Amino acid sequence: METETYTAIEVTAPGRLSRVRRPLRDPGAGEARIRVEACGVCHSDSATVDAVLPGISYPRVPGHEVVGRINALGSDVRGWVVGQRVGVGFLGGSCGYCEFCRNGDLVGCRNQGYTGLHHDGGYAEVMLAKASGLVSIPEGVTSVAAAPLLCAGLTTFSALRNGPAKAGDLVAVLGIGGLGHLAVQYARAMGFEVAAIARGGDKAELAKELGAHHYIDSAAVDTAEALQALGGARVVVITASGGKTVAATVKGLRPGGVSIVLGVGPEPIEVSSVDLVFGSRRLEGALTGNPATGDATLRFSALSGVSAMIETVPLDQAAAAYTKMMAGKARFRMVLTMPAYVASSGSKATRRFEER
Ligand SMILES: [Zn+2]
Ligand SMILES: [Zn+2]
Repeated sequence: METETYTAIEVTAPGRLSRVRRPLRDPGAGEARIRVEACGVCHSDSATVDAVLPGISYPRVPGHEVVGRINALGSDVRGWVVGQRVGVGFLGGSCGYCEFCRNGDLVGCRNQGYTGLHHDGGYAEVMLAKASGLVSIPEGVTSVAAAPLLCAGLTTFSALRNGPAKAGDLVAVLGIGGLGHLAVQYARAMGFEVAAIARGGDKAELAKELGAHHYIDSAAVDTAEALQALGGARVVVITASGGKTVAATVKGLRPGGVSIVLGVGPEPIEVSSVDLVFGSRRLEGALTGNPATGDATLRFSALSGVSAMIETVPLDQAAAAYTKMMAGKARFRMVLTMPAYVASSGSKATRRFEER
């Protein structure tokens, strides 16, 4: 009997993406096999494609914004059923027995691979995933719309949800790109006063459209002074890299405020100890979120109409989509669609941007 195969896009060596056919495998213990419908293209895919992180073994299928339907379950999987629509994000699923898991910190799990880095991801028609990392996808959100929410959405939603800001507080978002354009929408939908910060005037109109009450052009005005003129930010969500720009946000915090770094870059961040100590300000990093927060991200997005601006690309053109994203030309998220997946008409939320 001939073995069933599926199409995957693998990184065979740094910088090289190849289309291959792979034999279908059965899920192992604790795993679900997913018939992929859509997979987002994320900047973190460069860890695999361009070998930014060491220790990746090739060939490897990238992609960690995966949405599809379970079509087989391995042994010892509870809580998920065949046919269910699920998502897989950057964190590949916690172990349940390490110190961090036992303390309730699933993001910190020591035995958790990263999807598309340590095991194969979603640039493929089929993938295997640990059930402990799965996120449920609600009705009313298309698979294409859901894909970027599993990484860019979860990261920004989780940072805002776990931050100290309460309704009515000033929250600033630095950078209006793949992460930032979602952060602005979430911040607005959560009831904050929202300031969007970006270089130049180009993004001003878009920022307002996404829900920002204020737009700060960091090339034209002093960001810290502008934030302080608004009373100081309780939270600044930092989606751009660049040490100086990030450092400036700390001066724009009100006492007790926090700057949360979500975007990575090589430049060090030089923050004055005076700014930290006087006013008890904080600068911290946050890595995506746990699966239950993933569920909440999707539900909240469906309820509030938050959605990414998306360009869809067939799986076969993954290399071109990746190149466009890396060149900073995606507006704002690229999503690969699988041949067998016929896009449904789309939720109200996605249509809002697909019409643009
Ligand atoms: Zn990502
Ligand atoms: Zn663990």
